Amino acid sequence: MLNVPSQSFPGPSSQQRVSSGGRSKVPLKQGRSLMDWIRLTKSGKDLTGLKGRLIEVTEEELKKHNKKDDCWICIRGFVYNVSPYMEYHPGGEEELMSAAGSDGTDLFDQVHRWVNYESMLKECLVGRMAIKPAFPKDYHEEKRLLNGMLPKSQVTDPLAKEGPSSPSYDWFQTDALVTIVIYTKQKDINLDSVIADHRDNSFRAETVIKDYSYLIHIALSHEIQEDFSVRVVENVGKIEIVLKKKENTSWKCLGHPLENHNSLIPKKDTGLYYRKCQLISKEDVTHDTKLFCLMLPPSTHLQVPTGLHVYFKLTITGTEIVKPYTPVSDSLFSEFKEPVLPNNKYIYFLIKIYPAGLFTPELDHLQIGDYVSVSNPEGNFKISQFQDLEDLFLLAAGTGFTPMVKVLSYALTNIPSLRKVKLMFFNKTEDDIIWRSQLEKLAFKDKRFDVEFVLSVPTSEWNGKRGYISPALLSEFLKRSLDTSKFLICICGPMPFTEQGMKLLHDLNFSKDEIHSFTA
Ligand code: FAD
Ligand code: NAP
Repeated sequence: MLNVPSQSFPGPSSQQRVSSGGRSKVPLKQGRSLMDWIRLTKSGKDLTGLKGRLIEVTEEELKKHNKKDDCWICIRGFVYNVSPYMEYHPGGEEELMSAAGSDGTDLFDQVHRWVNYESMLKECLVGRMAIKPAFPKDYHEEKRLLNGMLPKSQVTDPLAKEGPSSPSYDWFQTDALVTIVIYTKQKDINLDSVIADHRDNSFRAETVIKDYSYLIHIALSHEIQEDFSVRVVENVGKIEIVLKKKENTSWKCLGHPLENHNSLIPKKDTGLYYRKCQLISKEDVTHDTKLFCLMLPPSTHLQVPTGLHVYFKLTITGTEIVKPYTPVSDSLFSEFKEPVLPNNKYIYFLIKIYPAGLFTPELDHLQIGDYVSVSNPEGNFKISQFQDLEDLFLLAAGTGFTPMVKVLSYALTNIPSLRKVKLMFFNKTEDDIIWRSQLEKLAFKDKRFDVEFVLSVPTSEWNGKRGYISPALLSEFLKRSLDTSKFLICICGPMPFTEQGMKLLHDLNFSKDEIHSFTA
């Protein structure tokens, strides 16, 4: 019998290989996939060695468990025995060992903030750290201040003092309405900056101000109707959230504060907040890629800014699994036509279904009317990079095309200085090209836009470019409209593609400031 080498896992395009911020990933052994880990956690095996007991862990005790076969890590006050997980960790044992016997919260936040570790590691939970979290000392003061007086915001992180100046809020009412006013003291605030949710009479509004989040989080004193509206007075950075009272009574106070209410927190330290969105439609785009339309609940205000992604959360065989997806518009021409559905309630996604994947087959099995949890937007793309832009070069491979959809539309509609946008789109075959005819139509309609398709596995009839990202392809592609033009290169695709592209761009003397790579 032929000795066929086993297929390496994760597959070349597996998300389990995708690194964030250049983090190295290690190939996992056969039988060590995320699905295998879920199976192990369901097997009833004692993964902590504590026979189901939960204990209080002192710092001294934590420090003792610092070896590969006895490795405890604390994340946000909870201690996990991660030894059984070592071989399943896509970041490798070394990464886990760097936090062995200590508080790994910072390390975790740097690379895995979006991973639902509580669910993934629940069978590894040893217990809580013995130190009790301090009760916020100004809780009572805060409670008093909520009775209609203008509160001073809390800055939870000392570093935030170097960030934007502290926002504040106030509220007022009429017979029918309660208006919460947030004074951000920033000019570049718009409707994308505010993410608000009303759930079970608690109200949560996160305002993104540069790399910080200002949070209003209140258990309302009275009931309100499900929907509410958000207005922004851009030039003064004022946000007005108008809630509709259920009964026309006068409120003596707005409510009482919930976790992190009225605080300005570095964005990296805020947890991901999810709401359930309903699947409205699912359309085939290519043989394996579909356009999903999700509807936000009426009790949510959320607009995903250009270039950012969200996380989807689904429970798969009892474990919450989270994966990132990038919103697109319903077509490349939606900026130019009246929307069929109101833009601010529907979010579209182009998603490739991997038959052997963990998450996408579950997504594909969702029926119209089913729900999926969707997080607040994440990512480090800044639209300010487009200011005065003259040339925009987009390098996309496979579904790495998704962030380019909004980037492309935004640039063509909102940047008056723009002279040229070029997309080089890498795929295996012609059948894999997402929205090919739309791209060709757009290139025909808008003389500033040009698209080139490059195929790695073309048929003999293919007359276009073939092969992989290379110095020759890039040098020819990256021709600017003027030697002095302000330009930006965006790149997105399988991680090895992006890494290879970044290396080649660096070799061609492009600087980091001239490139944006989309990663998690
Ligand atoms: P995985 O389980 O990760 O598997 C993926 C591949 O690995 C498949 O080819 C599968 O066949 C192979 N594989 C799985 N198990 C094995 C095994 N045991 N042996 C060998 N091979 C195996 N994707 C989109 O489609 N649209 C988007 O808009 C989008 N946006 C993203 C944004 C960001 C910031 C990032 C980082 C990724 C984005 N992705 C997007 C990718 C997405 O997050 C998922 O990685 C993707 O949907 C695959 O998930 P999965 O769980 O179905 O597949
Ligand atoms: P794919 O079809 O497997 O690949 C697309 C093209 O890229 C193919 O021609 C492929 O060639 C080529 N390619 C793959 N690896 C390469 C490498 N190392 N060097 C040069 N070319 C390479 O892609 P996909 O399945 O759609 O996957 C898209 C990827 O994009 C996923 O990994 C996803 O996570 C990522 N993504 C990221 C974001 C983000 O914002 N970060 C957004 C969306 C998608 P061959 O297959 O012939 O080798």
